[in-house]
Amino acid sequence: ETKQLESIESMIHDVIVLLRPQAKMKSIHIEYNGSGKEKIYCDRSQIKQVLINLIKNAIEAMDQGGTIRIFTSSSDSHIDVSIIDEGPGIPQDIIHKLGEPFFTTKQSGTGLGLMITKQILERHQAFLEMKANEQIGSTFRIIFPVPA
Ligand code: ADP
Ligand code: MG
Repeated sequence: ETKQLESIESMIHDVIVLLRPQAKMKSIHIEYNGSGKEKIYCDRSQIKQVLINLIKNAIEAMDQGGTIRIFTSSSDSHIDVSIIDEGPGIPQDIIHKLGEPFFTTKQSGTGLGLMITKQILERHQAFLEMKANEQIGSTFRIIFPVPA
């Protein structure tokens, strides 16, 4: 583990480039909006792994077409990254199981992505908020502390 100050935007950019072919196969657009200034103290490859897990899940949750929106925002106390999809949302009766090892609703899922995500975030004093949106889809929000 090597932690240093990293631009959140540049990590998001790398992961979008990596996953764009997979999104394109389903005609899904990935949109990013942010101020571009936020930096977090992190292990770059681990945080990229987190972003891969969440954006892959967003792609897998969606049918053909639609948009995945990613945005960053910051305050005095924290820096957020939100990933908003247009999938079916998360049923209330399973939301508490997300991130349990091997919990999956997919034919060939491993049910490990969110568990690994939560473990990595814990090592960064960060956490994950998951919710179904009011209208359509889900929002997965990562909340990082502001670097000291
Ligand atoms: P896997 O992707 O292998 O199923 P994950 O740990 O990444 O494992 O996700 C666990 C489960 O959480 C998924 O099977 C799915 O039921 C639910 N889930 C994750 N992301 C989303 C999402 N964006 N929309 C709806 N459900 C989701
Ligand atoms: Mg997954």
